[in-house]
Amino acid sequence: MRWEDGRESGVEDRRGLGPAHLIGGGGIGAIILAAIGYFVFGIDPRTTMSVTQSLQQEQSPQQHVANGACPQGDETCRFADVIHTSADDTWAAIFRSQGETYRPSHIVLYSGGTGTACGAGQSAMGPFYCPGDETVYLDLDFFNTLDRQLGAKGDFARAYVIAHEVGHHVQKLLGTSDQVAAAEERGGSHGANGASVRLELQADCYAGVWARQSNTKMNWLESGDLEEAINAAASVGDDTLQKETQGVVVPDSFTHGTSAQRMKWFRAGYENGDPGDCDTFSRRL
Ligand SMILES: [Zn+2]
Repeated sequence: MRWEDGRESGVEDRRGLGPAHLIGGGGIGAIILAAIGYFVFGIDPRTTMSVTQSLQQEQSPQQHVANGACPQGDETCRFADVIHTSADDTWAAIFRSQGETYRPSHIVLYSGGTGTACGAGQSAMGPFYCPGDETVYLDLDFFNTLDRQLGAKGDFARAYVIAHEVGHHVQKLLGTSDQVAAAEERGGSHGANGASVRLELQADCYAGVWARQSNTKMNWLESGDLEEAINAAASVGDDTLQKETQGVVVPDSFTHGTSAQRMKWFRAGYENGDPGDCDTFSRRL
């Protein structure tokens, strides 16, 4: 992927802030969240909210500070900035074309743990989006996990992860995540066909929309890139992860969809670059 010429809008860099910034109560939240959130990117925001609700009183999210440019020579930081900016720019254009206004998301880079409006953010959760502060939280070490433990190599695999999280921001702006939360509170379906899986697969589809539209604009995909993203989508499927971590597949506990489904919906978004093709709520998964 030839990303180097992409626009940068800055990141909020909390790396190296030290343990003082690991806010109080984070330990408890971390244990609970790590237990339910094995390496998937994108903890179900409602799960995060409900688990951390009781912790919220003692935790106040850090104020957003001004975005800054990445340190010189920090290519991984710059990459995250470029992809995040591109995803926001892509969705801003899509919203504009439909007469809507897009509010850009934030991105925070951290190491270890950090405070968020959704409670304590921990590296073990994988990258996630917090609707409370409209921010993508990313510990860049996850890229090594993706590469070495999950076998998803390549820069475009990493780009897919960031674009998926921005997809959750789009869902927040469109009200989709709120509707899903309300449906689940009324006792909606869970597991393999549940609303949470549909929400996640839609975020994969939105990542595909970004991939297509950004490439039309930037012409930055190289041969093998698309396969990298599709391979990444496969490597974080619930069935694949469960086999690796538990040795057994439990569809009732699915939160993100199977490997085949995640690949299918990324491709569906990529095919025409049209978010209208991402209706995972009324189509067969
Ligand atoms: Zn997700």
